[in-house]
Amino acid sequence: GKFDIRANVGYTPEELEKINPAIVQHKETLLNFVSKGMTTSSLIMINPEIKNLVYNTFKVTSFIFSAITPKEGSKGLLFAGTESKESIFTEGDKELITILASQIGQALENARLFEKTWLSQQSLERKVEERTKELKLAIEEVQKISKRKTDFVSSVSHELRTPLTSIKGYASILLTGKLGKLPPEVHERLDKINRHSDELTHLVNDLLDISRIESGKMIMKKETLDLKAVMEQISDLLSVQLKERELKLIVDIKDDARNISADSSQINRVFINLIGNALKFTPAGGQISITGSKKENLIQIDVSDTGCGMPQEALELIFEEFYRVDNDINQNVKGTGLGLSLVKHIIEAHGGKIWVKSKEASGSTFSFTLPQ
Ligand code: ADP
Repeated sequence: GKFDIRANVGYTPEELEKINPAIVQHKETLLNFVSKGMTTSSLIMINPEIKNLVYNTFKVTSFIFSAITPKEGSKGLLFAGTESKESIFTEGDKELITILASQIGQALENARLFEKTWLSQQSLERKVEERTKELKLAIEEVQKISKRKTDFVSSVSHELRTPLTSIKGYASILLTGKLGKLPPEVHERLDKINRHSDELTHLVNDLLDISRIESGKMIMKKETLDLKAVMEQISDLLSVQLKERELKLIVDIKDDARNISADSSQINRVFINLIGNALKFTPAGGQISITGSKKENLIQIDVSDTGCGMPQEALELIFEEFYRVDNDINQNVKGTGLGLSLVKHIIEAHGGKIWVKSKEASGSTFSFTLPQ
């Protein structure tokens, strides 16, 4: 509802001070001119005195007004005049000034849109910053809790190991019969104590290793290994069990996937766990196959079986500690549900990934990657 002189060429500040009251006084006429988008001649036609008023106020002999009308925001008008008596504004000059005014309108519109985008970008950035801060705090909290859990599991496992070792030690000595001949019933019970102590030691060792890897205390001693040689050793180790369970093991390591960079003893544990599971969950007559192939700069190893498979909902959970699928085999076969969690920790500590695909009653494939 008011005019501000924003820019000018040709008038001194003192002259502008004299011009300003005239603009204030004829504000309504000028506002009407802008809002209706009139031309100078129609303005003069409606209001003939304007001509003399402009001549006197702006000290010009010829002039033109042109409305600046961006779609939104402040509007304005461009005034151009000349005091030269010879060079009166031509139609071409008027057209040029009208084009200029329309381009100023467009520029204002662009500036407004740019400002709007910029402001919303700023507020978005602020929001992202805030959320990132919140997320960082939440992650720190989770890390603290996770560390406490790891420390707790680690100390409990450690404390359990000493008494377990002596239980197992005493049971073994008694079983040898060196401290006296044992009645068969006692021998049988002691044998159970011995076996259960072994299982418990195994569980405690797995738990300790998981927490050691989690806390970064277990360093993977990486060296270049020949995957074919690793597989030969493992096949030998498992040959008796494979024969007993009437299962066939097929190994196919591609030549360009022969070299892996890994900690030898930890990778053996990975294979023993995965093939051990395949043995456990595959009925007689089935097949276990191991393939090694190069995928970009990683080596991918797939361990497949023709076993009982798993329901889809179990696939997301099986790498979690203590998770076991509730099926007939698991009800009859002992297990801790720690094997796959340990395997995942070992693979990730090598910079690899592990995943599983499975279909009930037809088999499972565990795949993992290792650096070449
Ligand atoms: P565990 O074998 O001691 O139970 P794991 O962590 O090795 O513990 O395995 C967790 C569960 O995942 C198993 O109990 C079983 O239900 C499922 N599983 C693992 N490997 C296989 C497989 N090859 N076929 C079918 N189920 C499997």
